Amino acid sequence: MADSKCLFCEVRFSKPALLVPFQHTLEKLTGTSKDKTKGKAEIKDEEDEAKNEFFKIINSFLNAKEGSVLIHSDGDRNIDLFDQKVDGRLVTLIPDNALYQDVYERSFLDDNHLYYRVKPRSGQRPLSILDFNTKFAVSKGLVDPTQGQMRDFMKHVIEEEEKSPSFFEAYRGTAVLEKDQPAMLNSVESGSKPFRENICTQAKAYDQTDLKEFCWKKSKPYISAFSKIPGGGSVYIGIAEDKTGNIATGKLIVKGVNANEFDEQEMQEELLRRVGMEMMHIGRREPDNVIETEALPVLSDKSSVVIQIKVNYYHGIYFTSLDGPKLFTAKWKHSGLEVANIDVNIWLKHLNSWWELHVH
Ligand SMILES: [Zn+2]
Repeated sequence: MADSKCLFCEVRFSKPALLVPFQHTLEKLTGTSKDKTKGKAEIKDEEDEAKNEFFKIINSFLNAKEGSVLIHSDGDRNIDLFDQKVDGRLVTLIPDNALYQDVYERSFLDDNHLYYRVKPRSGQRPLSILDFNTKFAVSKGLVDPTQGQMRDFMKHVIEEEEKSPSFFEAYRGTAVLEKDQPAMLNSVESGSKPFRENICTQAKAYDQTDLKEFCWKKSKPYISAFSKIPGGGSVYIGIAEDKTGNIATGKLIVKGVNANEFDEQEMQEELLRRVGMEMMHIGRREPDNVIETEALPVLSDKSSVVIQIKVNYYHGIYFTSLDGPKLFTAKWKHSGLEVANIDVNIWLKHLNSWWELHVH
């Protein structure tokens, strides 16, 4: 590929190296399309689609160690908006502690063309992950890990396991923060000691849909997050947030789920079945029952129960997808750029050899 032709105006550029045309304009990437026939929602959808495609390409360049994208602009050269909406996420894709300017470069080639380049860097580096497809719990909810946090967590999992095989057993049981919670359920209405959410406790109001499906959808990201916490955590179904008018008060009210709708064993089997079908896990041991369910009676209403979905600690990682983390590499073919998926096993092998070199 000696030069690259813009897909929108047919201008050709030969520099920087490995320049591939992007199929969306800068305006689409920044959600500033002036097309009057399109509504706000449509423009936002197009922006998200363009951004996802762009992040995927940059992720593939980071893993292939080099590459540039040519972006056509209709003329506004609105680079500030690009920085606000796109650039921030690109920083999080840098797989090591390198500085932005050592990894990326961007500039206008003329009035209508911006290029975004991943600079070539020598030496072995960890692979960049586009989406880890796993969650971590923090006090305010769930977050995606950074590249470094994920590496540290993996290292911790492997090193602890090597140190003492029996430590694994000690991590099971109930987390300290959670020990008091079931007893609190009954005292909520009396106002003495309210049920509270914390890093390993999450309450969800039941909205009267398919109960099994609802429990699965609500607990899936928490299975990924709570199984990483020593002692695990729980999702409680049937606890709603109190609202005065339409304003949330932050107070939780125990409402429960109709007790007749809930069968403990059936629910547990269904959730474990879905975990097996939809969530990949890595770890040296097979998990046993990552989930247990229980019905907690609601004292003020004998016909209702709160469903506790207890997530047990797992010495490994649960992903919210069956394929594990999402990462790509770039292959330059005669027909143009091919962005190819990197298998999770290649990522793990790569991570191992990177540690051998840089950690041990
Ligand atoms: Zn162009």
